[in-house]
Amino acid sequence: MSRGGRWPRGVMVRSGRTSSSLPKDSPPDLPAEAGESGVEWSPMSVREYDVVFVGGGLAASLLLKELRKELPGRVAVVDPSPLPTQPSVHWSYWSHERTPYDRFAIGAWQRAKVGDMPPESIAPYTMSLVRSGDVFADLAARLESAPVDWLRTSARSIGSRDDGMYEVSTDAGVLRACWVFDSACDIGPAFPTPHRPGAVLNGTGIRVTSDRPAFDAATATLFDPLDERSFAYLLPLGPDEALLESATFGPVAEKTDAAPLLRYLMDRYPGASFVAPHEESGSIPLGFPPLRTAGPRHVLLGTKRGLVKPSAGYGIVRIVKESEELARLWREHRPLAPSRRDSRPWALLDTGFLQLVGKDPRLPLALLGNVMRAVPLARSLGFIDEQLPPRQLASIFLSALPIVLQSAVRK
Ligand SMILES: Cc1cc2nc3c(=O)[nH]c(=O)nc-3n(C[C@H](O)[C@H](O)[C@H](O)COP(=O)(O)OP(=O)(O)OC[C@H]3O[C@@H](n4cnc5c(N)ncnc54)[C@H](O)[C@@H]3O)c2cc1C
Repeated sequence: MSRGGRWPRGVMVRSGRTSSSLPKDSPPDLPAEAGESGVEWSPMSVREYDVVFVGGGLAASLLLKELRKELPGRVAVVDPSPLPTQPSVHWSYWSHERTPYDRFAIGAWQRAKVGDMPPESIAPYTMSLVRSGDVFADLAARLESAPVDWLRTSARSIGSRDDGMYEVSTDAGVLRACWVFDSACDIGPAFPTPHRPGAVLNGTGIRVTSDRPAFDAATATLFDPLDERSFAYLLPLGPDEALLESATFGPVAEKTDAAPLLRYLMDRYPGASFVAPHEESGSIPLGFPPLRTAGPRHVLLGTKRGLVKPSAGYGIVRIVKESEELARLWREHRPLAPSRRDSRPWALLDTGFLQLVGKDPRLPLALLGNVMRAVPLARSLGFIDEQLPPRQLASIFLSALPIVLQSAVRK
């Protein structure tokens, strides 16, 4: 146990467990009799843990993987749909350094374009594509022998107690813990925080194959408008195979379908016929994280920590970096900030972008289009990553200005 001496007074901490497992196919259903996982649960009982993860998705699993040798004896993960049961989607990401996802990449591009514009290098970035199922399968295998109780139920609330512990109320009973790592956006404090602007990025993706070579396999298309509210991006996996996605910003989650993507293909690649054997869709909440939690050892993770970039959605690279950072702080016995505070200038820009979505969902798309056409793509990616030096910001602001003025006129 690496954080000895940091537990609240009166809390018993045990190291080592006698029985535990991460069943791949059938995590324990609750309430349950003592099962293969060694978890006993009766609806009236209160179970005590050193650490409880509320939500067991990407961020929780990455942190568990980082900390598996340092975790205290009693660890539980509460999640109604554990990793192996989650549907696989495609994750694209860009990075200028190696990431743990790279070895699962089914495609990688160092050249990209916007609409009809000529391809350009995106160095120092590489754009990559992985299947979430491959990442999750690897994480599940690495965590198989970790001493963790996987509790297949939903948390309803997280609160603090007078004795310094936290209480997690779930559909199947109550847990008490010294530490709570929380990536469940729907329970309080909810993500996005209602006190600041929020929006949703709705997306649909299809894996397509064509009956003849249609795509330039070395070039990713990062932005191509589908209509006034949606844009497409296309990641070719070969001359006759690609992942094509649509993205739509809006005030609320909405279902989008593949019809505009199929029309886009017919329009862009006349003469070729396409089949789309795989379709996926989902919504990514965009906004700001809650700054207050139930206490200093109630630590937010992943999207809920504010690691999904409010203005553009994606976050798996930020999530892995933050997991490594949190693990380092834990090992060094240093405080873990419960939430993430954005630096002020970037937070203001994100606020402005989200306000545009609330005003008129066509505006953020027009703004993205203007910026991505006006400046080199690598600079746009650096801007979204908050890694652009101030002297390079002027060209971005100039290209965004017409949309900002347009929005001011619409007040
Ligand atoms: C269709 C789709 C496509 C995406 N594409 C990309 C992409 O291309 N690139 C990219 O970087 N990101 C992408 N993302 C976003 C990426 O999946 C998330 O950033 C990442 O999964 C966030 O990790 P997380 O741990 O915060 O959340 P999750 O991985 O969602 O984990 C949260 C967990 O909490 C659990 N949970 C929820 N409520 C409760 C509760 N009350 N009690 C207990 N458990 C609860 C859920 O079951 C889930 O397992 C995409 C998302 C979707 C939906």
